[in-house]
Amino acid sequence: MALRPGTVAPATGIYWCSVCKLPGQFEAGQVLPECRNKCGRGGWDFVQAKTGAAPAPSSSAPSS
Ligand SMILES: [Zn+2]
Repeated sequence: MALRPGTVAPATGIYWCSVCKLPGQFEAGQVLPECRNKCGRGGWDFVQAKTGAAPAPSSSAPSS
């Protein structure tokens, strides 16, 4: 379901414009803006939640 601009974001993470698929990251509680491409009738589809506040160190270099 697409969230209309002006709707409060339900979760922190990545959202896509339902029309042009422009991605954007918004925080929970933030009022969703209009798409930068001014799609007008578009909305935001929640794509991926941001995992945790502290990003895990990506130092898993395989050394085998
Ligand atoms: Zn758009």
